[in-house]
Amino acid sequence: MNKKDLQLILKQLKFTPNKKLGQNFIVDENALNKIISISNISQNDIILEIGPGLGALTQKLVESGNKVYAIEIDYRLYSYLENIFSIYENVEIIRGDILKIDIPHHNKVISNIPYTITGPLLDKLFYRINSPTGILTIEKKIADRIFSSNDYKNFSRISISLNSFMIPVLRFNISRKSFYPIPDIMLSLIKIIPKDNINPFLSDRNTIEFFLKFVGGIMPYKNKNIVNAIDLYFKNQEDGLFNKEEILNILQKNDYENNKVFTFKIEEFIEISKLFYS
Ligand code: SAH
Repeated sequence: MNKKDLQLILKQLKFTPNKKLGQNFIVDENALNKIISISNISQNDIILEIGPGLGALTQKLVESGNKVYAIEIDYRLYSYLENIFSIYENVEIIRGDILKIDIPHHNKVISNIPYTITGPLLDKLFYRINSPTGILTIEKKIADRIFSSNDYKNFSRISISLNSFMIPVLRFNISRKSFYPIPDIMLSLIKIIPKDNINPFLSDRNTIEFFLKFVGGIMPYKNKNIVNAIDLYFKNQEDGLFNKEEILNILQKNDYENNKVFTFKIEEFIEISKLFYS
């Protein structure tokens, strides 16, 4: 689908893209082919697409012959897609909010995701055991954080949480002009694959939930010493469980020095969160 075709469809549907829903539709055949080529779709793959929009990527996915689930929140787009894809048996268009619905079983997520919900979407899809492979177009700034290995500027909550569960393997810049309307942000295409040696602490829902909360709570203080950052985290919790002295003791007992937060390694963040899990 090129820009002219897309504009024509929008006009016929009397559809004005909604910025809040991140509605920027892909209009670049080369970018589409790149997405498909790095997806390495194999016969057994069950594919999840989030936010199919007007179905340009969906069409390519469906042509692979694999089972495809496409989740779309916007009713007008959903009805349009239901109609044009009714001739295919291997695709299910589901109307819903990806953050709220029970997602059908899948092992590959291939999507130009709605960039307005990137954080919560990564949380829900990838931060667990047996997570799928992801081939995603996302905001470039977030890709920078995901691919930052201890570079201070970009090192953030998402660097730690994503790299605890996934290995980021590929990234390419994608021109903003590959989308219509042209988005305000710069974009990257990334591929992330599930880690096969996830820390055993992250094997149940409660520990994962605590870990994500803990990391989210200390990373705003990445430039402080770890004891102060953890102290601030507990002070911000309603039920502050540990005071500063206890935090220092626990870390010392486990041979951690009171260094700046950003100098710790991914595995150390996991081990440290385990020390404070109760
Ligand atoms: N993937 C398409 C469209 C990208 S625009 C393409 O590349 O052309 C993002 C799409 O996500 C829009 O269709 C928007 O309606 C949809 N969307 C936004 N928030 C969503 C949510 N919470 N759940 C499911 N779909 C959502």
